[in-house]
Amino acid sequence: MKIVVVGCTHAGTEATKDLARMYPDAEINVYERNDNVSFLSCGIALNVGGVVENTEDLFYSSPEELSALSVHMFMQHEVLEIDAMNSNLVTNERFSDTYDKLVMTTGSWPVIPDLRNIGLDNILLCKNYNHALTIIEKAEHANNIAVIGAGYIGIELVEAFEHHGKNVTLIDNMDRVLFRYLDPEMTDRVEASFSNAASAWRSGRL
Ligand SMILES: Cc1cc2nc3c(=O)[nH]c(=O)nc-3n(C[C@H](O)[C@H](O)[C@H](O)COP(=O)(O)OP(=O)(O)OC[C@H]3O[C@@H](n4cnc5c(N)ncnc54)[C@H](O)[C@@H]3O)c2cc1C
Repeated sequence: MKIVVVGCTHAGTEATKDLARMYPDAEINVYERNDNVSFLSCGIALNVGGVVENTEDLFYSSPEELSALSVHMFMQHEVLEIDAMNSNLVTNERFSDTYDKLVMTTGSWPVIPDLRNIGLDNILLCKNYNHALTIIEKAEHANNIAVIGAGYIGIELVEAFEHHGKNVTLIDNMDRVLFRYLDPEMTDRVEASFSNAASAWRSGRL
């Protein structure tokens, strides 16, 4: 049996490990757009805040580890069509592959609003390893940081930047933070604690 896995962060890494264990005779090809696997995005804010010192510590697997399971790893390869027409991002070479079973673990991507100048260099996304490196690099010399989106990721980033003494502005199109997850009784407290922390920073109390 030949199995193709498309996308290799968490779902893809686990699927690949399980498939290699359950079907030792299968030929398994993994295609991943990035040059890494298994990056823990949930640690980006901890990394930005300095709790996790090295961004590299946010990986729990690697292409080498999966290759050692006799899996063929096609890194920096983007699958363009479900019938497995592929493009090598480094050489732009294209080729086709076949499969008996196809595992799609292509995940998600941040919603990018259609705003004027959205492509400016200092407007960053927060999703993967490269984003984490860029955020940390750019934040080092930034005093004023705006975080757009007051969901869990935005809230964690605000906290991390505040810990570094940045002047942080949180922007959301709803009238309160975390509106998808918590009732106003709780979000009122979160907002109050953010305002208190911000004024404490500014007055030198933290
Ligand atoms: C900042 C941040 C913080 C988070 N915090 C938490 C948390 O605290 N707790 C929690 O449970 N979850 C958290 N999440 C969510 C969690 O990271 C995701 O649920 C998880 O990453 C989903 O894993 P996945 O493998 O399904 O998809 P993804 O992580 O999206 O991975 C998909 C992979 O597929 C690849 N890919 C996509 N299309 C193609 C293609 N055509 N060809 C080749 N490769 C392709 C991508 O490059 C990527 O590597 C957080 C997410 C972010 C961004």
